Amino acid sequence: METIKNPSRRNLFRGKIKQEHALRLPWVVSEDVFTQHCNQCQDCLSVCETNIIVRDKQGFPKIDFNRGECTFCNACVEACEQPLFKEEKNSAPWPAHINISNKCLATNNIYCQSCQDVCETRAIRFKFVNSSIPQPELNLTDCTSCGACITTCPQDAINFIDEMETPYV
Ligand code: SF4
Ligand code: SF4
Ligand code: SF4
Repeated sequence: METIKNPSRRNLFRGKIKQEHALRLPWVVSEDVFTQHCNQCQDCLSVCETNIIVRDKQGFPKIDFNRGECTFCNACVEACEQPLFKEEKNSAPWPAHINISNKCLATNNIYCQSCQDVCETRAIRFKFVNSSIPQPELNLTDCTSCGACITTCPQDAINFIDEMETPYV
């Protein structure tokens, strides 16, 4: 019989706590691998240069893009002694992609291009699309998933979603 040493996991099995749909550290193998092997030592929190790693309700690290962007400095990966990460760093850092919701000011005919201004790879560009206000167009091929656009959006209109279009918290 499996022994559950981690109290957070024990509570999950008993149904006391609902697991958050959270983005973990970049290049984590999977959510299951992460929650099974992360010992909540918090070493990754202290090395993140943009301070975007926080603890979720169960104590596991998660990324909070409302605090800033990921520079992909790799410091959190190097600080972690657990086998949580993919060997191949050329793959996508998270199982998610950026989405702009209908809360966007430009979509609601109010001028705003803040997200374009912070996007280094110009994955967000604005064009007139049957409207008097330029509309954002997101090119996911050019998006690095850095999250810089999330914190700059005054409407909280940008987030990461998974392939089922479920947003991450
Ligand atoms: S790669 Fe660097 S910036 Fe990104 S979450 Fe890890 S420590 Fe923070
Ligand atoms: S920053 Fe937010 S509100 Fe402004 S254009 Fe971009 S998505 Fe829309
Ligand atoms: S997450 Fe993508 S769209 Fe947003 S700033 Fe970074 S590269 Fe640009």
